Amino acid sequence: TKNNVFSYTSDNIIREGDTLVVFESGDNIKQIVMKRNQTFQNKFGAFPHNDIIDKLQFGTKMYSKTMMGWVYILRPNSHIYTSSLAQRTQILYTPDISQVLFRLELRPGFRVVESGTGSGSLSVSIMKAIVPTGHLFTYEFNQVRSQRAIEDFQRLGFYPQNVHVTHRDVLNNGFLLKDESTGEFLVNENTIDAIFLDLPSPEKAVPHAYKVLKRGGKLCNFSPCIEQVQKAVQEMARQGFYEIKTYETLSKDFSSSHHNYQSFKQQVKPTIVTEENGNKQQDNLGDTNTGNLNKRQLKQKDKGMLVTAPKIESRGHTGFLTFAIKF
Ligand code: SAM
Repeated sequence: TKNNVFSYTSDNIIREGDTLVVFESGDNIKQIVMKRNQTFQNKFGAFPHNDIIDKLQFGTKMYSKTMMGWVYILRPNSHIYTSSLAQRTQILYTPDISQVLFRLELRPGFRVVESGTGSGSLSVSIMKAIVPTGHLFTYEFNQVRSQRAIEDFQRLGFYPQNVHVTHRDVLNNGFLLKDESTGEFLVNENTIDAIFLDLPSPEKAVPHAYKVLKRGGKLCNFSPCIEQVQKAVQEMARQGFYEIKTYETLSKDFSSSHHNYQSFKQQVKPTIVTEENGNKQQDNLGDTNTGNLNKRQLKQKDKGMLVTAPKIESRGHTGFLTFAIKF
């Protein structure tokens, strides 16, 4: 089985078929797939894939053929993947994704269910958290999106060993899943460690989620509006979930500035001790043991202090994340 592109290889060399990130600037980041005889072109000129495949390492600063400019060619991480993927739907971004991974306590070996797959932004972070032995079962009722997800996960090296993509309406048909060739259950009752829901009318998916979760397994629901949260929470309580908690992830900016304040201690006890000779140069106000400034502190005083304060407004409402545990 192929390693996924997020995990390091000992030589770190870029191979044909690898997805890499071309970093031109902070707001110009692209994903490209390495294919022989193809060329990546930008305003700096041409970057032939043949000059990269089997030759360069992830992390290289690469100059264009004409030497007019350069790009960094990077290994994707989940944040870069999410911020540079081709969006087919609304997606989850890193602030919410990190909450989901952390509060569902995802770890290698976990069996996780997700619906809908959407653009696969969250799916990739889930898979990264549960490899090498874990498995994601993701369900999507839009056939084109489920097919595109399979192609993406294959290209990244997760499919088929770490993920099943199922084309299905989960509100009507639930999450139970059989292997078509053997008839064995892949997703059976009480076998799943964690479930994530991001679809309309999640309250209708909650009973199906309860069925396949293990006792103590965790559910997370993402909903953009509070009315949907209320319905989902009521259904969670009715089914027997406990510790139901809803979070909203907001980003808050902090402004920072330098100030030349004197601390209260410095003002009442301005005694200075030089480190070279240990001699105390004491003025009339201070005592010899407290309030002393050594050389390092004096330097900091000259530079002033870095003061930070939160700005009043918070930004970034995407939705509410509700977590619950199956009793
Ligand atoms: N979390 C995803 C991501 O980070 O890329 C985005 C999910 S997107 C907002 C919601 C997806 O749920 C859509 O692709 C939609 O087709 C799918 N969906 C909606 N209702 C569904 C249902 N009843 N069964 C399965 N999938 C459904």
